[in-house]
Amino acid sequence: MKDTEVRKLTQKERARQKRVVNLIASENYTSRDVREALASEFTNKYAEGYPGARYYGGNEVVDELERLTQARALKLFKLSPDEWHVNVQPLSGSPANLAVYYALMAPFGKIMGLELSHGGHLTHGHKVSATGRLWTPVPYTLDPKSELLNYSAIKKIARKEKPDILVAGYTAYPRIIDWKKMRGAANAGGALLMADISHIAGLIAGSVYPSPFPYVSVVTTTMHKTLRGPRAALIFTRKDGTDFYKRIDKAIFPGLQGGPHMNTIAGVAVALREANTPNFKKYSRQVVKNARTLANELKKHDLRLVSGGTDTHLILVDTWRGGEGIGGKEASERLEREGIVVNKNTIPFDARSPQDPSGIRIGTAAETTRGKKEEDMVALAQRIAHILS
Ligand SMILES: *Cc1c(COP(=O)(O)O)cnc(C)c1O
Repeated sequence: MKDTEVRKLTQKERARQKRVVNLIASENYTSRDVREALASEFTNKYAEGYPGARYYGGNEVVDELERLTQARALKLFKLSPDEWHVNVQPLSGSPANLAVYYALMAPFGKIMGLELSHGGHLTHGHKVSATGRLWTPVPYTLDPKSELLNYSAIKKIARKEKPDILVAGYTAYPRIIDWKKMRGAANAGGALLMADISHIAGLIAGSVYPSPFPYVSVVTTTMHKTLRGPRAALIFTRKDGTDFYKRIDKAIFPGLQGGPHMNTIAGVAVALREANTPNFKKYSRQVVKNARTLANELKKHDLRLVSGGTDTHLILVDTWRGGEGIGGKEASERLEREGIVVNKNTIPFDARSPQDPSGIRIGTAAETTRGKKEEDMVALAQRIAHILS
């Protein structure tokens, strides 16, 4: 690179990424092939529209690329093109969710999502997000004792509030979601059930987490978390006789976005193929094994985990412990000084502020990509416990 300033920063960031232990649950390391696709000539191309129906000329190669990406996305999740449609153009997870709401709900329609401080995402109808202002949020919470989803309580709220869309799939929930029960809750309220599998898509692809596809109408996911792809998102829509998939395509373009980032879509295609290999299955199994080991070891060191453990790549540690411990901000800063990067996070029914919440969130997806195994987790738990004590 001739630009020495940016080159230096790139080198600095590369060195930083190599130096730290990365336990940020939403991050991962892309392959060289994914990054090569991102840097490809596809970045030069305008391709507003969809394959076979573009607004500019010169899109014959781009059409092939987008169709290939769609086919790979359906194949990865074992979906038939007769039953499912996929849009591969969302620029990221938030615009993907926005597009679903914009396509399928009138203004001020009701979005029923998990409370942000309980592990939901901003785009599930939180008031600081456009999704909580353009539509009406109907929040649900976790059970205060078990810190798990309470399906009968969710069903009750759905029956009473009659939301337009019920969102399942979270940002900081370490456990298995019972998709069938979520379907039951959606039915009770006459709601459309949407799964946002941004965090767990790689685990679902690797068959270590139950698939929501048999139970839902719409699935959104980011590519860049456990799926190990570039920053982008996908929207899957069931072809159930409705025109929902056409409405969602129209919501993405021309509703909310302009030209798709075809270089990113090339990277998505590469990542989807990488995720459809025995190696990736092995990887996702290891991600969960590492998280389970880390969770068990942290508990041995007397740390309190929200819900008592994990079924995924993700662990929530209650560092505050009702005042006996330290806040999440201090915990994350202490860890970072020792080269361990996590994020501070609220815990269910958190009495503290999001700027200084009661916990931290830990994930094993990134470090597992770097080859870490159970024995590394044992050592890591010891270090974390020592730094936090
Ligand atoms: C990360 C995440 C998103 C948003 O993704 P961005 O790419 O950051 O916009 C949406 N939903 C869930 C559940 C997420 O975890």
